[in-house]
Amino acid sequence: MATTDRDYYELLGVGREASEAEIKRAFRRLARELHPDVSDAPDAQERFREVVEAYEVLSKTETRDLYDRYGHAGLRSGGFQAGHVDFGNLADLFSAFFGDDMLFGGRAGSRRARGADLAATVEIDLVEAAHGVTREVPFEAAVTCARCEGDGAEPGSEITVCSTCAGTGRLQQVTRSVFGEFVRTQTCPECSGTGRRIEQPCTECRGAGRVVEERTLAVEIPPGIHHGQQIRVGGEGHAGPLGGRAGDVYVEVRIRPDERFVREGDDIYTTVELTFTQAALGATLAVPTLEGEEELELPPGTQPGEIVVLRGRGMPVLQGHGRGEQRILVNVRVPRRLNDEQRRLLREFDEHADERTYGKAEGGGLFAKLKSAFH
Ligand SMILES: [Zn+2]
Ligand SMILES: [Zn+2]
Repeated sequence: MATTDRDYYELLGVGREASEAEIKRAFRRLARELHPDVSDAPDAQERFREVVEAYEVLSKTETRDLYDRYGHAGLRSGGFQAGHVDFGNLADLFSAFFGDDMLFGGRAGSRRARGADLAATVEIDLVEAAHGVTREVPFEAAVTCARCEGDGAEPGSEITVCSTCAGTGRLQQVTRSVFGEFVRTQTCPECSGTGRRIEQPCTECRGAGRVVEERTLAVEIPPGIHHGQQIRVGGEGHAGPLGGRAGDVYVEVRIRPDERFVREGDDIYTTVELTFTQAALGATLAVPTLEGEEELELPPGTQPGEIVVLRGRGMPVLQGHGRGEQRILVNVRVPRRLNDEQRRLLREFDEHADERTYGKAEGGGLFAKLKSAFH
C-alpha cells in the first residue's frame, strides 16, 4: 500500500501547533464524515485511508516528532509503514461511533477475520533460565482445512449467495444520533459474515474450514527470563476463518524451583553449611553456582549468619547487560549428639578458652546484617 504524500496536518485540517486533543477531535470528525460505510463520495475510501494514516502518525509523539523534523522521508527511514495501521489503537474511537463491525471495514466476501490467539506453557529449570534454552512446545491449533482449502465446502459442491444478507455478509440498520445519520452494521447471523451459503459442507472439517492439529513450536527462551513471563510467537496461533491470518501463540514460561537456590529478581541466594570446627579452623568448600560449582575459601573464625557476595554470579538481566549477584549465607552446624569422649574433649577445650578466644559478640547487629542481605 502506497504512502500518501500529502501533508498530514493539512489532511486533518489542523495547524502544526495543534494539541493532542485537537488532533483527536479533527480525526473523529473526519472519520465520521469519510468512513466508506457512511459516505457515498467516490473518493471517500481513499481519503479515509489518508486521514487514518495522518492520525496514526500525528497521534503518537514519536512518529509526530519524526514527521515534524524530516517529513515523509523521516518516517520511511524510521521504519513506519503506512497502510499497516494498527486498528487496535483506534478501536475505541471507532466502536464509539460505528459499532465494532466497522473496524474490519471489508466488503462482503473479502472479510478475513484474524484467527484467535492461543496459550501454551513450557516448564524449565532455573539453570536453563539462566543460560537460555530452546524448547519444543506442543500445542493444538486450528489450521486451514486442506480438503476444502478453508472454504468449508466439499470440493466440487456448490456455494451460493446467502439469502439473508444477499451476499453482503452484513445487515444494516440506519440510526439517528446527535452526530447525524449512521448506518450501523451487524454481521449476518445466517452466514457469519461470509455472504455465502454452503450447500454441502466439507467432510473433513464439517464446514468450519479449519481443523485442529497437534503441532510443536521451537521456542527460544532468552537468558534471564522470569517465572510466569510470556513469549509471543506471531502468526502461529489458530488460523482465521476462510483462510484468514493466524493468531499468535503466547507461551508462558514456568521455572521449576531449584532446591539449591532462591531467586529474588536477578539475584540468587544459597546457603553453605560448615561444621563448627570448620568454622573455627577455616575451610575451603564447594558451593553450587548457576555455572556448576565454585570453591569458596572461608577463613578461620567464620561466623554463622555471615554473607559472602559473588558479584556477577546471579541471573542475567533479561534483554539487558550484566548479571545479578549470588549471595551465600553461612550456616554453622553445631553437634547435636556427643559421645563421652567428644564431650570430654570439648570441656577440656572450654577450660582453655576465654573471651579473647571468641572475640566481640554480634548482639543485635546480626539481625540487621541478615536483614540488609535480603535488600
Ligand atoms: Zn474442509
Ligand atoms: Zn448472510
